[in-house]
Amino acid sequence: RRVGWAVCGLGHFAQNYAIPAIGRSAESKLTGLISGSRDKALAVAGAWGVPEGSVYDYGMQGLADNDEVDVVYVITPNAIHEENVIAALEAGNHVFCEKPFSHNSAAAQRMMDAAKAADRRIMIAYRAHFEPNNTALKEMVQKGELGDIWYATSDHHRPLDPSVERDQWRMVRDLAGGGSLMDIGIYSLNGLIWLLDEVPERLVATTFSPETPDGRFGEIEAIGQVQLVFPSGRRASISSGYVANKKRIDLWGSQAVAVLDPATEYFGNRLTLSTAEGDEMPTPSKPSEQQFTGEIDHFSQAVRDGVPILTPAEMGLRDMHLLEAIYISAERGEWVEVNPDGTLR
Ligand code: NAD
Repeated sequence: RRVGWAVCGLGHFAQNYAIPAIGRSAESKLTGLISGSRDKALAVAGAWGVPEGSVYDYGMQGLADNDEVDVVYVITPNAIHEENVIAALEAGNHVFCEKPFSHNSAAAQRMMDAAKAADRRIMIAYRAHFEPNNTALKEMVQKGELGDIWYATSDHHRPLDPSVERDQWRMVRDLAGGGSLMDIGIYSLNGLIWLLDEVPERLVATTFSPETPDGRFGEIEAIGQVQLVFPSGRRASISSGYVANKKRIDLWGSQAVAVLDPATEYFGNRLTLSTAEGDEMPTPSKPSEQQFTGEIDHFSQAVRDGVPILTPAEMGLRDMHLLEAIYISAERGEWVEVNPDGTLR
């Protein structure tokens, strides 16, 4: 049977992307909703055919008795993931958790401990691992088609808009855990580690929080910039920002240069390749929207059939450690060394 999913947190991403994707998926079905606003949840339930009895508040009282729900998909502000993830685990469910895993590594570790105690699984919603242009590039790198990649860059930027609700918690450090690095710089970091199949061993970072009349960057960084050195010796440079709108990844191979631009949008990502001499090579673009159903059905298969999870909680925890190392480097103004699990060496 299809695996039953309950969505927890009915904000912008949940209503516009996550719930429609569950609706389109082959292996998964929306069978529950969890929200602080019963009226909002009942309206969403009506639109998606979820029975009123399968609508819960954040305490998730009664969810343990609902056999139609197997997975809870947590889509609340970063620091609020933990209480919902733990409630879902305690109700006997597996958890699909939005990125970043949390606002810090301690919370991520507590969620992993709770999953172990409950004998349930957690997957982090790193959708780029299921995006066809990204996976095409990953396959090319694995086959060595780009040659030696000694340098890579990745930049993830989008404008912050204080007038919309979804960006209000993103300006509060205690809820977001940081600024653009935490929110979208994580795509630069996680994407390069995945594509290059290597975790950096040294890094140095700077952040910038310009003063604006509305003080939007009072608690968080607008810009993050990080230099990475990998165990193989290769170098990479990543950035994040809350000002411009651009999301791209560049791999500078000795045989070919690959550019994903955009790299991680919801729709319309594009891979272009050029030879070492600079001649453009034909590369068909693939539809990006499969990324959402791809990650959702992957987790359904993982919990139903036991397949290994491609973006497990361990990956989410590693990235939280790396983000913390980045902030420490920026604060100290010096290089820091990190272990393969992202912790400071
Ligand atoms: P949002 O503000 O639109 O939605 C958050 C929801 O959580 C709202 O319905 C809000 O009412 C609820 N909520 C519960 N407790 C709250 C609290 N204490 N304070 C504020 N709101 C609370 O935000 P969003 O953009 O949908 O982001 C939610 C999560 O999804 C974040 O972790 C974000 O990083 C992630 N996200 C992922 C993607 C992706 O492409 N994978 C895209 C957008 C957001």
